[in-house]
Amino acid sequence: MNISTARLAPLWWDAVDASATRPAISSDVDVDVAIVGAGFTGLWCAYHLAGFDPSLKIAVVEANHVGFGASGRNGGWCHAEYPLGHGQLAHDHGKEAALRQMQALFASVDDVGSIARTEGIDCDYAKGGVVSVARLPFQDAYAREEVEHANSLGVKPDDIVYLSESEAKARLNATNVVSGVWYRHGAAIHPAKLVHGLARAAESRGVEIYESSRATAIRRDGVVTRGGVVSADVTVLATEGFGSQLPGRKRIVLPLYSLMVATEPLSDIMWDDIGLANRETFGDFRNLIIYGQRTADGRLAFGGRGAPYHFGSRIKPSFDTPDDVHTELVRVLVEMFPQLDGVTLTHRWGGALGVSRDWRPSVTFDREAGVAVAGGYVGDGVATAQLAGRTLAELIAGLDTERTTLPWVSHEWPSWEVEPFRWIGINAGLAMARRADRSEERRNRPSKLSDVGNWLRGKRR
Ligand SMILES: Cc1cc2nc3c(=O)[nH]c(=O)nc-3n(C[C@H](O)[C@H](O)[C@H](O)COP(=O)(O)OP(=O)(O)OC[C@H]3O[C@@H](n4cnc5c(N)ncnc54)[C@H](O)[C@@H]3O)c2cc1C
Repeated sequence: MNISTARLAPLWWDAVDASATRPAISSDVDVDVAIVGAGFTGLWCAYHLAGFDPSLKIAVVEANHVGFGASGRNGGWCHAEYPLGHGQLAHDHGKEAALRQMQALFASVDDVGSIARTEGIDCDYAKGGVVSVARLPFQDAYAREEVEHANSLGVKPDDIVYLSESEAKARLNATNVVSGVWYRHGAAIHPAKLVHGLARAAESRGVEIYESSRATAIRRDGVVTRGGVVSADVTVLATEGFGSQLPGRKRIVLPLYSLMVATEPLSDIMWDDIGLANRETFGDFRNLIIYGQRTADGRLAFGGRGAPYHFGSRIKPSFDTPDDVHTELVRVLVEMFPQLDGVTLTHRWGGALGVSRDWRPSVTFDREAGVAVAGGYVGDGVATAQLAGRTLAELIAGLDTERTTLPWVSHEWPSWEVEPFRWIGINAGLAMARRADRSEERRNRPSKLSDVGNWLRGKRR
């Protein structure tokens, strides 16, 4: 398998009209709520808010087109994951609050599925869970700890389950599998179909979506675009990694690239060999995250976080398709599934996700300033953005719910360092994770470098 056969575009965009089909802002507009960004966060917020109060005038302002950002490009893992893990959540907020946050995330996976069904959004939703395999003997301890720790927090034993070698291989027959963990609360989805369907569902509730309308400034009274000002009582920033390009927000959320490849549809014989019979999404316990899904049409879509951070938080289309990182992804894919060697790669792409300085996601609403923000999901935003968008809508509507007191609500992010320290720190962390993986593979024991990487991210294992 090699990258030369692949088209430079997200696989998911083949199934939707990935271009601007809605009007741009061409004169001043007056609304109650202006939402910047037509990805999952902005659209879930708009959808729920319009449901709570149909009399509200809501406008979504999108620089490119619906699903242009991470929401239209991701791995389609709709799963209940807090970026730094449940251990860190419990350490930060205590067991009771950690459990509430986790259960809210679990519920969001089902909410995505049930709302998609209700709204007639065919997004290939399949709730087969997530399987994470240990592929080096010492990683078996991580799998056991993960389950023990979740149980000690009060997570039900059948929500996060330890898998023996044979049980893990029965779900995912990758090379060198020694054991694994299965997480019930995970579904595979087609991200572009979901984000486009969600946009239509929001519109059917009266939300106006403007495409090709970049916000150039955020003011107390709304959003400035080249075509006109959108005056609003409340402005929602739902720009995730792209938020770094807005004036005054360069050090708030950092854009980190995640890259993906997709194969041609595989034969049934090949799938019988690989597994994922329930379309479980999958990963393993390496330091530099990888993720994959069996798509509804039988392809393997596979991604990883090996791309460098670009100086000054720059975002450019050419950063989506670096040959060297995609080649390395293909190497890892074939190393895990040697039977894929002769298979054709049809697509490769990438996109920017959002990382806050303390690697924690957040949902905030400052009523006085009229500004609401959600994001910092660090690549775990598909289900999380549903919970965040709904919580933002509840906060703006003035509702008190079990979600509006979750620990991530009103969490203030520290600022990222100024350059060049940001660039040096992040890329050193990525290089360390890469070297830790190589060393762990060679020596079959945890690398000290992975401890440094965790320390840089403020994570406890
Ligand atoms: C390659 C890749 C794989 C991933 N895989 C997974 C996965 O499998 N599971 C998972 O849970 N998460 C995954 N993620 C992360 C997940 O996709 C995101 O966390 C989530 O989609 C964020 O949604 P969002 O709406 O907050 O941001 P985005 O989807 O990035 O949307 C932001 C939108 O704001 C628009 N915008 C930006 N600036 C402006 C402006 N000035 N004016 C107007 N509009 C603006 C952008 O054009 C964009 O459409 C992945 C991300 C990437 C990049």
